[in-house]
Amino acid sequence: MVTMKVDPTHPPAAHTATGFSPGFAALGLEASLLATLETLGYEEPTPIQREAIPPLLAGRDLLGQAATGTGKTAAFTLPMLQRIAHAAKQRPSALILVPTRELAIQVSQAVQRYGKELRISVLAVYGGQAIGPQFHALKRGVDVIVATPGRALDHIRRQTLKLSHVQIVVLDEADEMLDMGFAEDLDAILEQTPASKQTALFSATMPPRIKSIAHRHLKDPVEITIAKEPVKAGAAPRVQQTAYVVTRPHRGATLARVLDMAGPKSALVFCRTRLEVDEVTVMLNSRGHRAEAIHGGMSQVQRDRVMNAFRTGQTELLIATDVAARGLDIPQVSHVINYDLPSSAEVYVHRIGRTGRAGREGSAITILDPREQRLLRSIEQHTKAKVTVAPVPTVADLRSKRLERTRAAVREALDEGDLDRFRDVVDALASSGDPAKVAAAAVKLIFRAQGGERMEQDIPAMPIRPQELHRPPHRYTAYPDGRHQGASVRPQERRSGHGGQQAGMARLYIGAGRDAGMRPGDLVGAIANEAKVNSKVIGAIEIEERFSTVDVPEALARGIVEVLSRARIKGRKVTVRLF
Ligand code: AMP
Repeated sequence: MVTMKVDPTHPPAAHTATGFSPGFAALGLEASLLATLETLGYEEPTPIQREAIPPLLAGRDLLGQAATGTGKTAAFTLPMLQRIAHAAKQRPSALILVPTRELAIQVSQAVQRYGKELRISVLAVYGGQAIGPQFHALKRGVDVIVATPGRALDHIRRQTLKLSHVQIVVLDEADEMLDMGFAEDLDAILEQTPASKQTALFSATMPPRIKSIAHRHLKDPVEITIAKEPVKAGAAPRVQQTAYVVTRPHRGATLARVLDMAGPKSALVFCRTRLEVDEVTVMLNSRGHRAEAIHGGMSQVQRDRVMNAFRTGQTELLIATDVAARGLDIPQVSHVINYDLPSSAEVYVHRIGRTGRAGREGSAITILDPREQRLLRSIEQHTKAKVTVAPVPTVADLRSKRLERTRAAVREALDEGDLDRFRDVVDALASSGDPAKVAAAAVKLIFRAQGGERMEQDIPAMPIRPQELHRPPHRYTAYPDGRHQGASVRPQERRSGHGGQQAGMARLYIGAGRDAGMRPGDLVGAIANEAKVNSKVIGAIEIEERFSTVDVPEALARGIVEVLSRARIKGRKVTVRLF
């Protein structure tokens, strides 16, 4: 095996006058893909992309250790697209195997996005989806199949999926596929592919089982690991670090909520792409913030103007890409916010180093997707600093924060004095009523003027892996047959990293909890009646404030998710998925 240790430090900013980093071109990607990346607003490759793309383009097999959030999807998709676009069209040319339906959808969307210019067709194939339409699509022919192993094997056995022309196979999140019991399916699928194919295997962890699969299926692979060396002592600044876990559709609202709660005088918000920088800037300005964008696509004159506005306090929020921020002399800020988790620990440290300088207090806030919690843990390990995962502030939290601000503003005006000019108005209003009511009306006006009555949407709470919560959640644990009512999960039943379910059981997330009146019986009823599952086999149920979890036999889990996602629980539709 050829081993490359990736130094995750990005090279110095080297963007051109248009701001587009030559980084991607230097990796050997062709013009149409570079144009797509430019359109998507990617400014430079992430460490895993820098290391994986050249060997994959050269046709090498690859074993890559990378978690979600590092940019690994583009790392394997871009070279795959370039290679299959110019080869003889015998379809399917590429197969990507992923553990879950969500990932199948996500990866197929990425393939579509990156392959637009090259007119590459892609199909996601996963369990739980009607099989009929899949037959038709497969029959018509597609270039890239993104599939979960079970469903892929199903099609192979029905002879509706033939892999004899596949040139490239990617095993994505291989450790999760093994955790879900797909080891034999993977072997059976790979057996159907030509011996001459190129294979890439990505996994967040590299236990011996993964090494063994790699040994069996990869030929002299290039091995890539993001360097594990911790960041130099003292390199990470002492700042309060907090993370909020939300799904992608709620990231914007979460950012706005976090900013509304913090009320920073000067903050730097980091995004991964130029497109995101622009979107976030528009969104924040529409909510009354004074935000300016700064990215590699802007001219020097434009950047100077934005930086001046930020230095003089005319703009309170600077929304930037890493590349743009790297070349700038940015003054100390009170908050650094990662709208996206950066793709490596070094970039994270570099970003948050903009706050908490010279002994001042600083706050670093990260918004991350549930799937990126592992990457956050690896950043914690590298930086040897704790990042507290906290629940997203609720609408009620925000309202009380706003009231507190109004109260502080009134108190300040009282301390300032010089109130006699307004006395007559107060006296006139109070002459026919209660003076406290007059004061309350004035407070209401200030509250409103400060945006206190703006409508806010609820942001659904996401399950935070229990060991990652900064304070113990209020738990109500029950077993449907009455075992352990009110107790918590027995420690010996905990399986590290999986939140404590017994072996052979899978934990489901249900997007409704105590505040929706959810009780264990409602869940047992729904599972037993809708999914026709004997209630005796249902394991621990936990009702949290805003969500619940229930353990069910692993073999039945996906079927139960499928049925419950379509059903109503306590009269309403709720999100149901694997925890
Ligand atoms: P992944 O680790 O593949 O799930 O990617 C995480 C996110 O990073 C996705 O939203 C990608 O669109 C984004 N991304 C991937 N590569 C880059 C890059 N070079 N620059 C900016 N964003 C990227």
